[in-house]
Amino acid sequence: MPVRTTSTSATLADVFGYAEFRPHQAEIIDAIIAGHDAFVLMPTGGGKSLCFQIPALHRAGTAIVVSPLISLMKDQVDALCANGVAAAVLNSSQAAEQSSEVLSRLRAGELDLLYVSPERLVTDGFLQQLTRIELALFAIDEAHCVSQWGHDFRPEYVQLGCLRTRFPHVPVVALTATADEQTRTDVLRQLNLPEARTFVTGFDRPNIRYAAAYKIKPAAQLLDFLKQHDGESGIVYALSRRRVEEVAEKLRDVGVRAGAYHAGMNAVARARVQEAFMGDRLDVVVATVAFGMGIDKPDVRFVVHYDMPKSIEGYYQETGRAGRDGLPAEALMLWSMQDVMTSKGFIDAVANEEQRRIETHKLNSMIAFAEALSCRRRALLGYFGEELTEDCGNCDVCSDPPETYDATIDAQKALSAVYRLSERFGMGYVVDVLRGSEGQRILENGHDALSVYGIGGEYSKDEWTSIFRQLIHRGYLRVDVAEYSTLKLNATAAAVLRGEEDVRLARPPAPRPTAEKPPKSAKRARSLALETDEQAELFERLRELRRELAEERSVPAYVVFADAALADMARRQPTTPEEFLLVSGVGKAKLEQYGEVFLRAIAGS
Ligand code: ADP
Ligand code: ZN
Repeated sequence: MPVRTTSTSATLADVFGYAEFRPHQAEIIDAIIAGHDAFVLMPTGGGKSLCFQIPALHRAGTAIVVSPLISLMKDQVDALCANGVAAAVLNSSQAAEQSSEVLSRLRAGELDLLYVSPERLVTDGFLQQLTRIELALFAIDEAHCVSQWGHDFRPEYVQLGCLRTRFPHVPVVALTATADEQTRTDVLRQLNLPEARTFVTGFDRPNIRYAAAYKIKPAAQLLDFLKQHDGESGIVYALSRRRVEEVAEKLRDVGVRAGAYHAGMNAVARARVQEAFMGDRLDVVVATVAFGMGIDKPDVRFVVHYDMPKSIEGYYQETGRAGRDGLPAEALMLWSMQDVMTSKGFIDAVANEEQRRIETHKLNSMIAFAEALSCRRRALLGYFGEELTEDCGNCDVCSDPPETYDATIDAQKALSAVYRLSERFGMGYVVDVLRGSEGQRILENGHDALSVYGIGGEYSKDEWTSIFRQLIHRGYLRVDVAEYSTLKLNATAAAVLRGEEDVRLARPPAPRPTAEKPPKSAKRARSLALETDEQAELFERLRELRRELAEERSVPAYVVFADAALADMARRQPTTPEEFLLVSGVGKAKLEQYGEVFLRAIAGS
C-alpha cells in the first residue's frame, strides 16, 4: 500500500474517523514515524493501538505487530480491515493455505500491518523472510509479558530481545498498561531498548466511577446494581468456580442474559461464551480472573467484584476492562470480613516469608481501599504513586461522603470487651457479649457476669461489626487467623483504653432504601450523554441493527461501530453521507460499507 503523505491528523480522521488525538498520541506517533524506539505506558483504553497503527501507514513497508493472544489479534485485524487498512494475521491456528496467502501478500509488499504471534515471529525461517522485505516498525503489544516481574510472563516473549540487534534500522515500540515500576525497567532491558523514548500517561481512568460496598446480602446487592444497567455489557468477577456458576445461574433466573466463564470449562465452551459476549448476544459474563486478557470489548459498561480481589494491581486491571471507549462506566466491589479472612488464609499458607510479607502488604492496601473514608480514586492512584490534586467527584465516597463521629466511647467498649474476654474469642462472640446475648455458650462460660456484658445494646450486630472492622483497619485490633480468628489487642489500644486517645469512625451504614428505578431509556441517556428520549430510542434501534450486521459478518459488534459512534449518530442524526462522515468513529471505509443502511435507519425515525 502507498505510504500516506497527508498529515497524521488527516489519517486519524479519514481512516479511523476521529476528530482529535488523545493526550500523548500525537507525540508518540511523531517519534515513531521519525524512526525512534518507543516505550508507551498508557492505561487500558487509552488508545495504544493507534500509536503504532498510524505510523504503520506513514512509514514505508509493513509493520509487524506482536501480540500474545490470537483472539486479540483477530479482533484488531477485523477492526482495521473494516476501516479499509490492509492488515492480516499469521498464527498457528491457521490452515496452511491461509498462511501461505498471507505470506505472499507480505512478500509482495501489500500489507500495512501484519499481526503475528511471538513464537511464530522468532522462528529462524520467518526472521529470514523479514530481512528480505521492507519493514515499517515492530510493535510489541502487552510488552510486560517479557518480564518475569510482571503477572503475565510468557517465555516466548523473551526471544523478542533479538529484534533490536537483527533489525538495527527498524524502530521498535513496546506498549503496556502495566503499572509496576520494576516491570517497566525490566521490559526495556529484556527488549534491548536503552534508547527508547518513554511515554507515560497517568493511570487515571476518569470515566470509571469507583464504588465499594460491604456485603450484606451480596446476591440482592448485585441484582440491585444490575437493574441500573439493564441490557448493558458487563463482567462480574467471583473468586471460585463454584461461585461463578451459582451467580450466573441466579442472574439467568431473573432474566439477565448471563454466561459463566472459568478455567474449569473446556476451551470450546469458553470460546462460545466469549464470542457471545463480544457479539452482544450475552450481556453479562460471570467469571473468575481467568476471563480478561483476551477481552478487548470497548463498550463494557460495568465490572463488579463479587469478592474482594487480593491486590490493588488485580483490582485495577480487572476494573480497567470497563469503559475502554471512554464513555461512563462503573466499577463496584462487594467485600466482607470473610473475604479478608479467606485471603489471609491463603497468604499464611505461603512458605516463603518474604513473599508472605509482600502479599500481606498488598492485601492490607486492598482493605484500606475498600474501607476508604475519603476519595477512592485518590486512594487508588496513590497506590501507584500518582497524586490527584483534588477529590475526583466520580466515586461513591465523593458523591456520598460517610458521616464520621466521635467514637471514643464505642471504641473503649469494644476494646475492653476483647480484653475482658482474654483475647480468646472471635468477633461474633465479642459482639454477642457486648449486646447481652443469652446464647448458651456465653452463659456456660459465665460471661454474663463480665462488666462488659450488655453494655452495647444500643447497636445492632451489623453496626458493631462495622465498628470492629474499622478498629482492625486502624490497627487497634488484629485478627489472629492461626488461632481460630480470635481478636487480639495491639499496643496502640492501650492509649484508647486509658482515655488518652480519641477515635473518630465512620457512622456504621444504615440499610438504605433503594432508589426508584428510572425508566430504561433515561438511564441509557445518562450514561451516553444522550439528551432526549427520542435519541435514546434511536440509539437502541441502531444497536439492534449493529447486532444484526455483526452477526451476518461474524465479527464482534464493535467492529461494525462502537457504542460511542452509535450515540453520536443518535445525537447528530445525519441525513447525508457528508454528515455521516462527521460522526465520531466513521472514516471513509465505514461510510462506504455502512453509510447507506444506517442513514436509512436514522431517516426511519
Ligand atoms: P488500549 O489498547 O490502550 O487499551 P485501544 O487502542 O483499544 O486502547 O483504544 C481504546 C478505544 O479508544 C478504541 O475504541 C479506540 O478506537 C478509541 N480511540 C483511540 N484513540 C482515539 C481518539 N483519538 N479519539 C477517539 N477514540 C479513540
Ligand atoms: Zn472521589
